[in-house]
Amino acid sequence: MADLPNMHDAEPIPEAARQEIDRLLQSGDLFRYTAPEAAPVALLEEEFASMLGAKFALAVSSCSAALFLSLKALGLPRDARVLIPAFTFAAVPSSIVHADCIPVLCEVDGSYRIDMADFEAKLDDVQAVMISHMRGHTSDMDAILRLAEARGLPVIEDAAHSLGTLWNGRRIGTLGQVGCFSFQSYKMLNAGEGGILLTDDADLIARAVILSGAYEHNWKKHPVLHDAFAKWQNKLPLYNLRMSNLSAAVIRPQLAELDRRVRDGRRNHDYVASRIDQSPWITVPPSLPQEERAPDSLQFSLCDMTDSEVDAFVDTAKTMGVSIQVFGRSTDNARAFWNWEFLGPAPDLPKTRAMLARACDCRLPARLSLSDCDAVADVILSAVNHVMQQQVQATA
Ligand SMILES: *Cc1c(COP(=O)(O)O)cnc(C)c1O
Repeated sequence: MADLPNMHDAEPIPEAARQEIDRLLQSGDLFRYTAPEAAPVALLEEEFASMLGAKFALAVSSCSAALFLSLKALGLPRDARVLIPAFTFAAVPSSIVHADCIPVLCEVDGSYRIDMADFEAKLDDVQAVMISHMRGHTSDMDAILRLAEARGLPVIEDAAHSLGTLWNGRRIGTLGQVGCFSFQSYKMLNAGEGGILLTDDADLIARAVILSGAYEHNWKKHPVLHDAFAKWQNKLPLYNLRMSNLSAAVIRPQLAELDRRVRDGRRNHDYVASRIDQSPWITVPPSLPQEERAPDSLQFSLCDMTDSEVDAFVDTAKTMGVSIQVFGRSTDNARAFWNWEFLGPAPDLPKTRAMLARACDCRLPARLSLSDCDAVADVILSAVNHVMQQQVQATA
């Protein structure tokens, strides 16, 4: 078996960041609102909005902060109910709790996508929808947008892990009223921490900018119609969730890398997926026809295996050098809805529960070569064969 690649480390930050960081360290100019204009955070907002074709962007401290600010900027009242897929990261329902709203979970099917029948059934009882494109898997956005629009419900996209994904040729994160992205280290663009929200709505961005901590007249440094700001001055709390110039300096030179990362990530994913999908015990749900994915990790589901076979597969793969998590088989996985005990008793969601009990998660960075990918696919196939061959013998 070939040597296994390092599956954990991020890509180095482009060298161009160093000079800008040196300049910031020399001047001490780390706060986004100190410079009269052209602060790194403001430039990042301008570049990111233009790259994705959105009118406005606001860079903040995390994607969670962006989700929270989206709910607040939409003016949702206390105890408003917000529909989310039950397959997401704990930070998503947490951002809803943070905004004094109530997360309502809908079922996700075996393809990691929203179960549209359950979505529609729950839609009349919510005030907003937050679509988490979990691990970059896109649910049927045509149907979601149509159903939400028919009821006048705002749609927030959690595109934390979907930067670069296209839906009918349009950028994910620009389909709903607001789209939120993450710059945490495991996402396409890495600043350690950070997030950004996008919208075409001038009034909404004005509220989000003030809420994020543009106190006094700092909003004048944002390129939005100033009557929108004047209307909200002193009317909104200041949550201080701003981004630092240092983070922006780390992110900006990575924007030019995005297309390559998306291309290589998709190549690696599709290569490993097509190899392991040959196994009778593995299935990799295909993309939807409207979707062009930008994966930086691999999800696949085990079929016709018992819980103990699933656990043995994970242990065997680990011994062979590839770390795989089954979302629903560890006690503390933050992506298993029954571990979100802060929400109270877990709802009954049998489809999502069954999917999580068999869905595997494996890092697959864009920087791997195809021979690295072969080594990863070899381990996955060997581990599953090892476990299931033993079973075949044991039951014979
Ligand atoms: C990473 C992630 C988040 C949280 O992003 P932060 O920037 O760490 O707050 C939210 N949703 C999804 C789908 C994620 O992958």
